[in-house]
Amino acid sequence: MPDCLFCTLVREADHVAKADGFVAIRDINPRADVHLLVLPERHVDTFREVGAFTADESKRMLEFVAQTARDAGLEDYRVLVNVGPGGGQTVFHLHWHLLGGRIQGMPE
Ligand code: AMP
Ligand code: ZN
Repeated sequence: MPDCLFCTLVREADHVAKADGFVAIRDINPRADVHLLVLPERHVDTFREVGAFTADESKRMLEFVAQTARDAGLEDYRVLVNVGPGGGQTVFHLHWHLLGGRIQGMPE
């Protein structure tokens, strides 16, 4: 999948955190005080295909989301996945938004 932006960033970006099979990066256009993206290294288009991960990978992916939040100093935060164009997804490589602090467009 050479033309996938996030496949490239998995290889080349400045990673905030890394685990076996997963990385976290800073969102280039942050919409919260802390806005990180957790990406699986393996290309999966959307959350719809989350079944492509094994049970062990899925568990480790979710634990990595929680660990990345902890390491970023967040106790309270939001985890968001946009699914499909109608769900606001613009990059078609599954990713988890980690949003902490004040979030643009969200009530306090
Ligand atoms: P989504 O709309 O859920 O597909 O989210 C894609 C996210 O990727 C957006 O929040 C973008 O700001 C972010 N993004 C796009 N390009 C980059 C990049 N080169 N580095 C980091 N984040 C990016
Ligand atoms: Zn990809």
